Amino acid sequence: MGGWAIALHGGAGVDPNLPLHRQEQAKQLLTRCLNLGISALRSSLPALDVVELVVRELETDPLFNSGRGSALTENGTVEMEASIMDGTKRRCGAVSGLTTVKNPISLARLVMDKSPHSYLAFSGADDFARQQGVELVGNDYFITEENVGMLKLAKEANTIMFDYRIPAVGLETCSAGAAAAMEKMNGLPISVYAPETVGCVVVDVEGRCAAATSTGGLMNKMTGRIGDSPLIGAGTYACELCGVSCTGEGEAIIRGTLAREVAAVMEYKGLGLQDAVDFVIKERLDEGKAGLIAVSRNGEVACGFNTTGMFRACATEDGFMEVGIWE
Ligand code: ASP
Repeated sequence: MGGWAIALHGGAGVDPNLPLHRQEQAKQLLTRCLNLGISALRSSLPALDVVELVVRELETDPLFNSGRGSALTENGTVEMEASIMDGTKRRCGAVSGLTTVKNPISLARLVMDKSPHSYLAFSGADDFARQQGVELVGNDYFITEENVGMLKLAKEANTIMFDYRIPAVGLETCSAGAAAAMEKMNGLPISVYAPETVGCVVVDVEGRCAAATSTGGLMNKMTGRIGDSPLIGAGTYACELCGVSCTGEGEAIIRGTLAREVAAVMEYKGLGLQDAVDFVIKERLDEGKAGLIAVSRNGEVACGFNTTGMFRACATEDGFMEVGIWE
C-alpha cells in the first residue's frame, strides 16, 4: 500500500477572465477543505467518511455550485443532486431533485446505508430525507444574490450557462476567446465553461477508495434535468482500484461514462492511474468539455481536464500538495 491520498475539485471550466481576487477566494476554500481532509485521514477516518466530510464543507460554503450557492433552474429554483460510492464493496447512493436538503451528499450516503435502493429523486428523496431526520432548510437558503444575477444574464443571452462568471462582467464584454468558445448544445447557445460542481476522492491508509460528487447542475437548466453528478459510472465511481469524480458538461460526461472508464482502462488495459486519466480524457471526452480527479489504491493522485481550467487541490501522504486552477 502506498499511503493515503486525497483530491478535491470545485469544478472544471473557468472563465479565463476570472478576477484575481475570485481566484484567491477559490484557492483559499480549496486549501481549507484539503486540510480538513488531510487531518481526517491523519486521524484514521475511513475514505468514505472523508469524502462525505469534505463535500459537506464545500456544499455549506456558497462559493462553488453545490448546496448553498447552487446553480438555478430556468424557474429560479434550486434542484440539487449528489452521489457517493464506497470502492471496497462497490456500494453507492445517489439523489436528484433536492430542494430543501442542506447537505445532499449526506442524503446520498443515507440512501446507500439506510435504504434498499441506490438512487432516490424528487418527492421520494424529500420524503426519505424527512424520515431520516436530516437537516432541511427553505429553498431560499441555497439561492445567492450572485446566482440570481447570473441566471438573469443566462436568460438574456438565451443560454444554459456553464461559466464561472460574475454578474458585473456581462456576456457582451467577455473576451474574444471566451466568445469563440460559445457553441450550441441541442440548438441552444452555450459556453464550454462549466460551473463549479464539487467532488472529492480519497484513498485511506488501508487502501480503501471512495468518491463523492455534489452539484446544483447548470445555470438556467430545465427543471427536472439530471446531469452526470448523481450518475454512478458517469460523474462518480469507486472500486478496489480507484476513486473518480468528474465535472464539466454533464451531457458529455454521461455520453463518455467518464468515471467508470478510468477504472475500466486500469482494470482491462492494465494502465496506471495518470495514464488511465489521460487516455479517458483524450479518447472518451469531447474537446473542451470536462475534467476529473482520481486516486488509486496505491496512494497515487491524478487529475486531467480539457477545459481552460479546473479548480482543484490534492495531497498525498508522502508530502506532495497542489492547489491550482489552470494547467
Ligand atoms: N457536471 C455538472 C452538470 O452537468 C456541472 C459541473 O460539473 O460543473 O450538472
